Amino acid sequence: MTAAGNRHLLEVIDLQAGFAIGGRYYPAIDHISLQVEPGKVTCIVGESGSGKSVLALSIMDLLPKDNGRRTQGEIRLNGRNLMEWSEAEMNRVRGREVGFVFQEPLTALNPIVTVGSQIQEALRNHKPLSRRESRALTIDLLRQVGILRPEAVFHEYPHQLSGGMRQRVMIAMAIACEPQLLIADEPTTALDVSVQAQILALFKSLQQQRGMALLLITHNLGVVAEMADEVIVMYAGEIVEQGDVDRIFHEPKHPYLQQLLQLIPRLDREYERFASIGGNVPSLLHMPQGGCRFAPRCPEAMERCFAEKPQMTDTGANHLVRCLLYSGGGASGGTDGGDDDD
Ligand code: SF4
Repeated sequence: MTAAGNRHLLEVIDLQAGFAIGGRYYPAIDHISLQVEPGKVTCIVGESGSGKSVLALSIMDLLPKDNGRRTQGEIRLNGRNLMEWSEAEMNRVRGREVGFVFQEPLTALNPIVTVGSQIQEALRNHKPLSRRESRALTIDLLRQVGILRPEAVFHEYPHQLSGGMRQRVMIAMAIACEPQLLIADEPTTALDVSVQAQILALFKSLQQQRGMALLLITHNLGVVAEMADEVIVMYAGEIVEQGDVDRIFHEPKHPYLQQLLQLIPRLDREYERFASIGGNVPSLLHMPQGGCRFAPRCPEAMERCFAEKPQMTDTGANHLVRCLLYSGGGASGGTDGGDDDD
Protein backbone atom coordinates (compact mmCIF):
# COMPACT_ATOMS: atom_id res chain seq x y z
CA MET A 1 0.00 0.00 0.00
CA THR A 2 1.13 3.57 -0.56
CA ALA A 3 1.52 6.11 2.23
CA ALA A 4 -1.97 7.39 1.37
CA GLY A 5 -3.36 3.88 1.84
CA ASN A 6 -4.06 3.28 -1.89
CA ARG A 7 -3.01 0.13 -3.64
CA HIS A 8 0.00 0.13 -5.94
CA LEU A 9 -0.97 -0.62 -9.54
CA LEU A 10 1.74 -3.29 -9.67
CA GLU A 11 3.56 -4.68 -6.68
CA VAL A 12 6.26 -7.32 -6.95
CA ILE A 13 7.15 -8.92 -3.63
CA ASP A 14 10.26 -11.02 -3.03
CA LEU A 15 10.18 -12.51 -6.53
CA GLN A 16 12.66 -15.17 -7.60
CA ALA A 17 12.79 -16.62 -11.11
CA GLY A 18 15.37 -18.49 -13.14
CA PHE A 19 16.19 -21.34 -15.46
CA ALA A 20 16.82 -25.07 -15.27
CA ILE A 21 20.12 -25.79 -17.03
CA GLY A 22 21.70 -29.25 -17.17
CA GLY A 23 19.44 -30.57 -14.42
CA ARG A 24 20.17 -27.69 -12.01
CA TYR A 25 18.12 -24.59 -11.25
CA TYR A 26 19.85 -21.20 -11.49
CA PRO A 27 18.04 -18.09 -10.22
CA ALA A 28 18.33 -15.15 -12.64
CA ILE A 29 16.52 -12.68 -10.40
CA ASP A 30 16.59 -12.81 -6.62
CA HIS A 31 14.38 -11.29 -3.92
CA ILE A 32 13.01 -8.61 -6.23
CA SER A 33 10.51 -6.21 -4.67
CA LEU A 34 9.21 -3.12 -6.45
CA GLN A 35 6.12 -1.03 -6.96
CA VAL A 36 4.70 0.73 -10.01
CA GLU A 37 2.24 3.54 -9.44
CA PRO A 38 -0.61 4.54 -11.79
CA GLY A 39 0.33 7.14 -14.38
CA LYS A 40 4.06 7.00 -13.59
CA VAL A 41 7.08 5.95 -15.65
CA THR A 42 9.31 3.47 -13.85
CA CYS A 43 12.59 2.62 -15.57
CA ILE A 44 14.57 -0.53 -14.83
CA VAL A 45 18.19 -0.01 -15.86
CA GLY A 46 21.28 -2.22 -15.84
CA GLU A 47 23.89 -3.81 -18.06
CA SER A 48 23.13 -6.81 -20.24
CA GLY A 49 22.87 -9.85 -17.95
CA SER A 50 21.53 -7.89 -14.97
CA GLY A 51 18.21 -9.76 -15.08
CA LYS A 52 15.98 -6.86 -16.11
CA SER A 53 14.39 -8.65 -19.09
CA VAL A 54 13.87 -11.82 -17.03
CA LEU A 55 12.04 -9.64 -14.52
CA ALA A 56 9.80 -8.13 -17.21
CA LEU A 57 8.98 -11.54 -18.68
CA SER A 58 8.38 -13.03 -15.22
CA ILE A 59 5.81 -10.37 -14.39
CA MET A 60 3.70 -11.45 -17.35
CA ASP A 61 4.52 -15.18 -17.02
CA LEU A 62 6.28 -15.14 -20.39
CA LEU A 63 9.48 -17.00 -19.45
CA PRO A 64 10.28 -19.90 -21.81
CA LYS A 65 7.98 -22.75 -20.85
CA ASP A 66 10.66 -25.44 -21.30
CA ASN A 67 13.11 -24.24 -18.64
CA GLY A 68 11.98 -20.89 -17.16
CA ARG A 69 10.39 -20.90 -13.70
CA ARG A 70 9.14 -18.46 -11.08
CA THR A 71 9.97 -20.10 -7.78
CA GLN A 72 8.79 -17.69 -5.10
CA GLY A 73 7.15 -14.36 -4.46
CA GLU A 74 4.02 -12.46 -5.39
CA ILE A 75 3.12 -10.30 -8.38
CA ARG A 76 0.13 -8.16 -7.44
CA LEU A 77 -1.79 -6.24 -10.10
CA ASN A 78 -4.40 -4.02 -8.46
CA GLY A 79 -4.00 -6.21 -5.39
CA ARG A 80 -4.59 -9.59 -7.16
CA ASN A 81 -1.71 -12.06 -7.04
CA LEU A 82 -1.02 -13.07 -10.67
CA MET A 83 1.24 -15.92 -9.51
CA GLU A 84 -1.93 -17.83 -8.58
CA TRP A 85 -3.64 -17.32 -11.93
CA SER A 86 -4.16 -19.96 -14.65
CA GLU A 87 -2.82 -19.56 -18.18
CA ALA A 88 -6.35 -18.72 -19.42
CA GLU A 89 -6.69 -15.99 -16.78
CA MET A 90 -3.23 -14.61 -17.65
CA ASN A 91 -4.23 -14.47 -21.32
CA ARG A 92 -7.06 -12.15 -20.32
CA VAL A 93 -4.69 -9.94 -18.33
CA ARG A 94 -2.15 -9.71 -21.15
CA GLY A 95 -3.26 -7.12 -23.66
CA ARG A 96 -6.34 -6.01 -21.74
CA GLU A 97 -4.78 -4.88 -18.44
CA VAL A 98 -1.09 -5.00 -19.30
CA GLY A 99 0.39 -4.32 -22.73
CA PHE A 100 3.85 -5.57 -23.67
CA VAL A 101 6.29 -4.16 -26.25
CA PHE A 102 9.34 -6.25 -27.13
CA GLN A 103 12.79 -5.19 -28.32
CA GLU A 104 12.44 -6.74 -31.75
CA PRO A 105 8.91 -6.49 -33.12
CA LEU A 106 9.68 -8.95 -35.94
CA THR A 107 9.82 -11.76 -33.38
CA ALA A 108 6.56 -10.64 -31.78
CA LEU A 109 4.54 -9.96 -34.95
CA ASN A 110 3.23 -12.81 -37.10
CA PRO A 111 5.09 -12.57 -40.45
CA ILE A 112 2.28 -14.13 -42.50
CA VAL A 113 -0.63 -12.02 -41.22
CA THR A 114 -1.23 -8.41 -42.21
CA VAL A 115 -0.63 -5.72 -39.64
CA GLY A 116 -4.30 -4.72 -39.62
CA SER A 117 -5.54 -8.27 -39.02
CA GLN A 118 -3.12 -8.71 -36.10
CA ILE A 119 -4.31 -5.57 -34.34
CA GLN A 120 -7.94 -6.42 -35.09
CA GLU A 121 -7.44 -9.85 -33.55
CA ALA A 122 -5.89 -8.33 -30.41
CA LEU A 123 -8.90 -6.03 -30.12
CA ARG A 124 -11.52 -8.71 -30.73
CA ASN A 125 -9.88 -11.09 -28.24
CA HIS A 126 -10.76 -8.66 -25.48
CA LYS A 127 -13.65 -6.53 -26.74
CA PRO A 128 -17.05 -7.39 -28.25
CA LEU A 129 -16.48 -5.57 -31.53
CA SER A 130 -17.79 -6.25 -35.03
CA ARG A 131 -15.26 -6.62 -37.85
CA ARG A 132 -16.19 -3.16 -39.15
CA GLU A 133 -15.78 -1.56 -35.70
CA SER A 134 -12.44 -3.24 -35.05
CA ARG A 135 -11.20 -2.16 -38.50
CA ALA A 136 -12.07 1.48 -37.81
CA LEU A 137 -10.45 1.29 -34.38
CA THR A 138 -7.32 -0.33 -35.82
CA ILE A 139 -6.89 2.42 -38.41
CA ASP A 140 -7.39 5.02 -35.67
CA LEU A 141 -4.75 3.29 -33.51
CA LEU A 142 -2.28 3.25 -36.41
CA ARG A 143 -2.88 6.96 -36.82
CA GLN A 144 -2.40 7.57 -33.07
CA VAL A 145 1.04 5.92 -33.15
CA GLY A 146 2.14 8.24 -35.94
CA ILE A 147 1.68 6.06 -39.03
CA LEU A 148 0.97 8.47 -41.88
CA ARG A 149 -0.97 6.21 -44.25
CA PRO A 150 -2.82 3.92 -41.88
CA GLU A 151 -5.35 2.60 -44.43
CA ALA A 152 -2.52 1.32 -46.62
CA VAL A 153 -0.38 -0.02 -43.76
CA PHE A 154 -3.43 -1.92 -42.50
CA HIS A 155 -3.03 -4.29 -45.48
CA GLU A 156 0.76 -4.65 -45.29
CA TYR A 157 2.87 -7.43 -43.76
CA PRO A 158 5.51 -6.75 -41.05
CA HIS A 159 8.44 -7.38 -43.42
CA GLN A 160 7.21 -4.58 -45.70
CA LEU A 161 7.70 -2.00 -42.92
CA SER A 162 10.82 -0.31 -41.54
CA GLY A 163 12.04 -1.14 -38.00
CA GLY A 164 10.53 2.08 -36.63
CA MET A 165 7.17 1.43 -38.32
CA ARG A 166 7.09 -2.13 -36.98
CA GLN A 167 7.71 -0.83 -33.47
CA ARG A 168 4.86 1.67 -33.93
CA VAL A 169 2.60 -1.22 -34.97
CA MET A 170 3.71 -3.19 -31.90
CA ILE A 171 2.87 -0.19 -29.70
CA ALA A 172 -0.54 0.18 -31.38
CA MET A 173 -1.25 -3.47 -30.61
CA ALA A 174 -0.05 -3.11 -27.00
CA ILE A 175 -2.27 -0.10 -26.28
CA ALA A 176 -5.27 -1.32 -28.30
CA CYS A 177 -7.27 -2.42 -25.26
CA GLU A 178 -6.28 0.60 -23.16
CA PRO A 179 -4.14 -1.22 -20.58
CA GLN A 180 -3.39 0.45 -17.27
CA LEU A 181 0.22 -0.68 -17.52
CA LEU A 182 2.53 -0.88 -20.51
CA ILE A 183 5.74 -2.90 -20.15
CA ALA A 184 8.37 -2.13 -22.79
CA ASP A 185 11.55 -4.21 -22.88
CA GLU A 186 14.38 -2.30 -24.62
CA PRO A 187 11.87 -1.01 -27.19
CA THR A 188 14.34 1.25 -29.02
CA THR A 189 17.57 -0.76 -28.86
CA ALA A 190 17.19 -2.25 -32.34
CA LEU A 191 16.43 1.13 -33.98
CA ASP A 192 18.53 3.94 -35.51
CA VAL A 193 19.28 6.80 -33.12
CA SER A 194 16.93 9.29 -34.82
CA VAL A 195 14.09 6.74 -34.83
CA GLN A 196 14.80 5.90 -31.17
CA ALA A 197 14.07 9.50 -30.19
CA GLN A 198 10.79 9.47 -32.13
CA ILE A 199 9.64 6.22 -30.51
CA LEU A 200 10.53 7.45 -27.01
CA ALA A 201 8.58 10.67 -27.67
CA LEU A 202 5.65 8.52 -28.79
CA PHE A 203 5.80 6.45 -25.58
CA LYS A 204 5.86 9.61 -23.50
CA SER A 205 2.93 11.26 -25.26
CA LEU A 206 0.77 8.10 -25.22
CA GLN A 207 1.59 7.51 -21.55
CA GLN A 208 0.61 11.06 -20.64
CA GLN A 209 -2.52 11.22 -22.82
CA ARG A 210 -3.84 7.93 -21.50
CA GLY A 211 -2.62 8.21 -17.91
CA MET A 212 -1.00 4.78 -18.25
CA ALA A 213 1.82 3.52 -16.10
CA LEU A 214 4.92 2.61 -18.10
CA LEU A 215 7.51 0.09 -16.95
CA LEU A 216 10.44 0.70 -19.27
CA ILE A 217 13.41 -1.67 -19.37
CA THR A 218 16.62 -0.16 -20.75
CA HIS A 219 20.40 -0.30 -20.50
CA ASN A 220 20.60 3.38 -21.47
CA LEU A 221 20.78 5.98 -18.69
CA GLY A 222 20.12 8.73 -21.24
CA VAL A 223 16.72 7.12 -21.89
CA VAL A 224 16.14 6.93 -18.13
CA ALA A 225 16.92 10.65 -17.68
CA GLU A 226 14.50 11.49 -20.49
CA MET A 227 11.62 9.27 -19.41
CA ALA A 228 11.62 8.18 -15.76
CA ASP A 229 9.76 9.26 -12.67
CA GLU A 230 11.12 6.33 -10.65
CA VAL A 231 14.30 4.36 -11.32
CA ILE A 232 15.31 0.82 -10.38
CA VAL A 233 18.96 -0.15 -10.93
CA MET A 234 19.69 -3.87 -11.31
CA TYR A 235 22.96 -5.75 -11.09
CA ALA A 236 23.46 -9.54 -11.33
CA GLY A 237 19.82 -10.38 -10.68
CA GLU A 238 19.33 -8.02 -7.73
CA ILE A 239 18.03 -4.50 -7.28
CA VAL A 240 20.98 -2.45 -6.04
CA GLU A 241 19.41 1.01 -5.93
CA GLN A 242 16.00 2.56 -6.40
CA GLY A 243 14.52 6.00 -5.95
CA ASP A 244 13.04 8.95 -7.79
CA VAL A 245 14.84 10.12 -10.89
CA ASP A 246 16.30 13.29 -9.35
CA ARG A 247 17.94 11.43 -6.48
CA ILE A 248 19.23 8.70 -8.76
CA PHE A 249 21.00 11.22 -11.00
CA HIS A 250 22.02 13.82 -8.40
CA GLU A 251 22.70 11.69 -5.32
CA PRO A 252 23.70 8.25 -6.63
CA LYS A 253 24.74 5.98 -3.75
CA HIS A 254 25.77 2.59 -5.06
CA PRO A 255 29.30 2.41 -6.52
CA TYR A 256 27.86 0.58 -9.56
CA LEU A 257 25.44 3.41 -10.35
CA GLN A 258 28.13 6.01 -9.68
CA GLN A 259 30.35 4.32 -12.25
CA LEU A 260 27.54 3.99 -14.79
CA LEU A 261 26.84 7.72 -14.47
CA GLN A 262 30.51 8.53 -15.02
CA LEU A 263 30.26 6.82 -18.41
CA ILE A 264 27.51 9.07 -19.78
CA PRO A 265 29.15 11.40 -22.33
CA ARG A 266 29.09 15.07 -21.28
CA LEU A 267 30.43 18.06 -23.15
CA ASP A 268 32.30 19.36 -20.08
CA ARG A 269 34.26 16.15 -19.52
CA GLU A 270 36.85 14.28 -21.53
CA TYR A 271 36.29 10.60 -22.11
CA GLU A 272 38.45 7.72 -22.98
CA ARG A 273 37.13 6.01 -26.05
CA PHE A 274 35.16 2.85 -25.25
CA ALA A 275 35.28 3.61 -21.52
CA SER A 276 33.49 0.97 -19.50
CA ILE A 277 33.32 -0.49 -16.02
CA GLY A 278 36.11 -3.05 -15.66
CA GLY A 279 35.09 -6.71 -15.58
CA ASN A 280 31.76 -8.29 -16.49
CA VAL A 281 28.40 -9.01 -14.93
CA PRO A 282 28.73 -12.55 -13.52
CA SER A 283 26.96 -15.20 -15.59
CA LEU A 284 23.98 -17.14 -14.33
CA LEU A 285 26.16 -20.22 -13.90
CA HIS A 286 28.85 -18.42 -11.89
CA MET A 287 26.93 -16.07 -9.61
CA PRO A 288 28.98 -15.22 -6.49
CA GLN A 289 27.56 -16.98 -3.44
CA GLY A 290 27.66 -14.90 -0.28
CA GLY A 291 29.03 -11.38 -0.17
CA CYS A 292 28.21 -8.52 -2.50
CA ARG A 293 27.79 -9.55 -6.14
CA PHE A 294 29.46 -6.33 -7.30
CA ALA A 295 32.51 -6.77 -5.05
CA PRO A 296 34.90 -8.09 -7.77
CA ARG A 297 34.31 -4.88 -9.81
CA CYS A 298 33.81 -2.40 -7.01
CA PRO A 299 36.48 0.30 -6.45
CA GLU A 300 35.28 0.68 -2.85
CA ALA A 301 35.17 -2.99 -1.91
CA MET A 302 36.18 -3.82 1.65
CA GLU A 303 37.16 -7.19 3.03
CA ARG A 304 33.73 -7.73 4.53
CA CYS A 305 32.09 -7.11 1.13
CA PHE A 306 33.29 -10.56 0.00
CA ALA A 307 31.68 -12.32 2.98
CA GLU A 308 28.67 -10.28 4.02
CA LYS A 309 25.55 -9.93 1.87
CA PRO A 310 24.34 -6.33 1.68
CA GLN A 311 20.62 -5.77 2.22
CA MET A 312 18.48 -2.91 0.93
CA THR A 313 18.77 0.14 3.17
CA ASP A 314 16.54 3.21 3.03
CA THR A 315 18.84 6.24 2.98
CA GLY A 316 15.87 8.62 3.20
CA ALA A 317 12.85 9.58 1.08
CA ASN A 318 12.50 6.01 -0.21
CA HIS A 319 15.94 6.13 -1.78
CA LEU A 320 17.06 2.53 -1.30
CA VAL A 321 20.55 1.11 -1.78
CA ARG A 322 22.10 -2.34 -1.43
CA CYS A 323 25.63 -1.59 -0.22
CA LEU A 324 27.49 -2.14 3.04
CA LEU A 325 28.74 1.47 2.92
CA TYR A 326 25.19 2.55 3.86
CA SER A 327 23.89 -0.30 6.00
CA GLY A 328 25.33 0.96 9.28
CA GLY A 329 26.71 -2.23 10.77
CA GLY A 330 26.14 -4.74 8.01
CA ALA A 331 23.31 -6.89 6.85
CA SER A 332 21.18 -6.48 9.93
CA GLY A 333 20.82 -2.74 9.35
CA GLY A 334 18.76 -2.99 6.17
CA THR A 335 15.58 -4.40 4.78
CA ASP A 336 15.57 -6.76 1.86
CA GLY A 337 13.91 -5.86 -1.38
CA GLY A 338 12.72 -2.32 -0.64
CA ASP A 339 9.26 -3.40 0.45
CA ASP A 340 9.29 -1.44 3.68
CA ASP A 341 8.08 1.87 2.40
CA ASP A 342 4.36 1.42 2.78
FE1 SF4 B 1 31.15 -2.12 -3.15
FE2 SF4 B 1 31.05 -3.33 -0.78
FE3 SF4 B 1 29.10 -1.67 -1.49
FE4 SF4 B 1 29.36 -4.04 -2.69
S1 SF4 B 1 28.86 -3.69 -0.55
S2 SF4 B 1 28.98 -2.11 -3.66
S3 SF4 B 1 31.56 -4.25 -2.76
S4 SF4 B 1 31.26 -1.15 -1.15
